[in-house]
Amino acid sequence: MKIISAEFVKSAVWPAQYPPGTMPEIAFVGRSNVGKSSLMNTLVGRKKLAKTSNTPGRTQLINFFVINESISLVDLPGYGFAKVAQSVKKDWGDMMETYLRERPNLTMVISILDIRRDPNPDDLSLHEWLNHYRIPYVVVLTKTDKLSNNQAIARKRLIEKALGATVHQRALLFSAKTQRGKEELWQILENHLNSLGKQ
Ligand code: GDP
Repeated sequence: MKIISAEFVKSAVWPAQYPPGTMPEIAFVGRSNVGKSSLMNTLVGRKKLAKTSNTPGRTQLINFFVINESISLVDLPGYGFAKVAQSVKKDWGDMMETYLRERPNLTMVISILDIRRDPNPDDLSLHEWLNHYRIPYVVVLTKTDKLSNNQAIARKRLIEKALGATVHQRALLFSAKTQRGKEELWQILENHLNSLGKQ
């Protein structure tokens, strides 16, 4: 995909604040610090589209972007940092579930995991929501540059098993550092967007 324009639209918490849902939307989600901003920046080819930050627990908002004036990209707030209060976790859960349940133009979720970490209960509940609301998703394993190729393949199998992935839900190996998987992920997204046009 050739990126001609990439713009930040707005931040929101609740549906009344979301921008109009007129374009197909792809949402990116993962634990804090997993490499979500780096992945989005890599995909779009902009260094600072989504802010890369090492500060878990910064203001947690849903951030909307538009690329090529035709595709909406959403940066969902990171989850799963151990030290936050239960009330913050509940607010995060309410915000996320509301978004996943009520956004009519959401067409696909990119679920991002660090290839070196096993899925934790937060990752598993996210996947339960995705299955429950029948939202198509792709699992992307980031930071593969930190492992050898053999290690990466072994970790991929373990994570797929832990998530109960079916044959159609194979995880994709990715690295923002080397750009591994960038073209493959775009191909998946483009095929998906094209298939929507044919429905
Ligand atoms: P976010 O909190 O999920 O948005 O994560 P960031 O994109 O801010 O990344 C968190 C940290 O991981 C930063 O220090 C990044 O430089 C680093 N990082 C992200 N992706 C990769 C990757 O593919 N390879 C390596 N080696 N580091 C990465």
